[in-house]
Amino acid sequence: MNNCIFCKISTGEISAEKVYEDDQVVAFRDLNPQAPVHVLVIPRRHIATLNDLTTVDEALVGHMSHVAARIAGDEGLAERGYRTVMNCNAEGGQTVFHIHLHLLGGRQMGWSPG
Ligand code: AMP
Repeated sequence: MNNCIFCKISTGEISAEKVYEDDQVVAFRDLNPQAPVHVLVIPRRHIATLNDLTTVDEALVGHMSHVAARIAGDEGLAERGYRTVMNCNAEGGQTVFHIHLHLLGGRQMGWSPG
């Protein structure tokens, strides 16, 4: 999508500190980290919100979770624990309309989320 910042990160048009990429997804460090480890896993294909998923996207979303878990392991978080979050639309706190899975870790998480 033309004006999507995460599409531009996916293609390399905008730089980001990438920690993983393959043919389906890219993972990079969040610009404004909310925890010592804060990585975003995005699909290369533009999907605006969780509401826009279809059945053909199910494997892709599963892959995003699997990639997040592998990065968590690489970052030394597997045993300590971590959180993954996907925000949807205004009340969910979504600010970038290209789906992304937040991987947060390296500190104790609170509940409930603000
Ligand atoms: P959300 O509020 O769930 O839509 O999350 C969007 C996230 O994208 C926020 O945590 C931002 O800090 C992060 N973000 C926005 N622009 C960039 C960028 N250019 N590089 C890395 N992270 C970004």
